[in-house]
Amino acid sequence: MEDSVEDFLREVTTSKTEVIPAVSDDLFEKLLQDLDTPTPVQSTPSQLKTEDDEFITAFVEDVKRTAIVNSDLPVAPVVDSSPVVSADETISQLWRCARTIHAHDQGCAYVGITPREVLLTTGQRKVAKLWDIETGASKGMVIKEDTCSTCGGLGKVYKEGSLLFVKTKQATICPDCEGFGTNSEKGERFLAAKLSGDGNTLITSSLDKQIKVWNVRTCKFTTAIVTEPAVASMLAISGNGKVISYVMQNRTIVVYNLEQQQETAKLKRNGIITCIDISYDGNILLLGTEEGNINVCDVTTAVPPMNVRGHQNGIMAVALSQDGMLAVSGCRDGQVRVWSLSTGNLIHTFSHHLAPISALAIAPDNLTLASGSIDGMLCIWHLGRGQLLDSFTHAHTDRITAIAAGADGQTFATASLDSTVKVWRSF
Ligand SMILES: [Zn+2]
Repeated sequence: MEDSVEDFLREVTTSKTEVIPAVSDDLFEKLLQDLDTPTPVQSTPSQLKTEDDEFITAFVEDVKRTAIVNSDLPVAPVVDSSPVVSADETISQLWRCARTIHAHDQGCAYVGITPREVLLTTGQRKVAKLWDIETGASKGMVIKEDTCSTCGGLGKVYKEGSLLFVKTKQATICPDCEGFGTNSEKGERFLAAKLSGDGNTLITSSLDKQIKVWNVRTCKFTTAIVTEPAVASMLAISGNGKVISYVMQNRTIVVYNLEQQQETAKLKRNGIITCIDISYDGNILLLGTEEGNINVCDVTTAVPPMNVRGHQNGIMAVALSQDGMLAVSGCRDGQVRVWSLSTGNLIHTFSHHLAPISALAIAPDNLTLASGSIDGMLCIWHLGRGQLLDSFTHAHTDRITAIAAGADGQTFATASLDSTVKVWRSF
């Protein structure tokens, strides 16, 4: 039994490594070199050269001098004089917790919101559930506790072969669940999960070096991508659900097109990647590193990537705005920074968190940002005005692990290790 599964996986692996890159080798090399060339990366503040960076340093020094970091400080040093987003006076200042869902006993690792206002939550390395955002009622499960990990609950596995030079796919009964789709001992377990912006696709990465793709509407496993040579520890999926990106061994980034079923780019970095996001169209990658660097690269063109020393400490979370104009980064020192992707300049520095940032999300209106930290604090910011709109010191009693933004721009959902998922609305 075991052998046949291993044979099957080996065959899948072999076929997947033969993909033809849609991007030329030259471009691969170019991207690789660009990423590895530490262009504007400065290792210490004293080496900072540009005006922007001096401004950042001065600001950081100011913050250090004041000793106490609070919202009364000039939290928004506008380095970039050109307004990227116009201040919208209609945005509400006040937010409230509209709903608390006790979602996963061992803590919630992830939350996403579909455009139809359905919440998707995952537990720690297992189970994906759906919830009605209005009522908090359960709307089913995409991955159950005992979903057979070998076949994703389908009850059958596919073996690729060829007959008279034509590629064939032969379905056989899953050897680990005998076709029932459930196996309590070999239940599906995953390291990371992400929901696409259109709410249709969930991707998970598992220890067997696979990324599994699930149809959220039908609650069914659809396909698996083998991530040789290592497990994908970080995942990102584009808003349209067509492109995914994953990080292996904290250094290798792979971009994979789900429609074409092929790898479209593979990049390597010298630094230790700690977080990743991908733009709505799947063209722009945003990476944060342990060294405090921010990388932005367009995987479809040879435009040199943005590579800046964004923070003095490790970056814990990054997010891109839906319009692809802004990037935000959250640091171990509690600071959140907003960057213009067109100029590479720093727009705002937000200082209100007292603990490392653990999650970030920008609303689809590109005006509102939510930040969460490991002490359970939630802050909501106006990106245009550079202001703190509202903050909740004890939004959760444990680490905020993920934040999702609702389509209306007035809703955020937070997931926490305290077992709950909360829905926040402006009023
Ligand atoms: Zn099975």
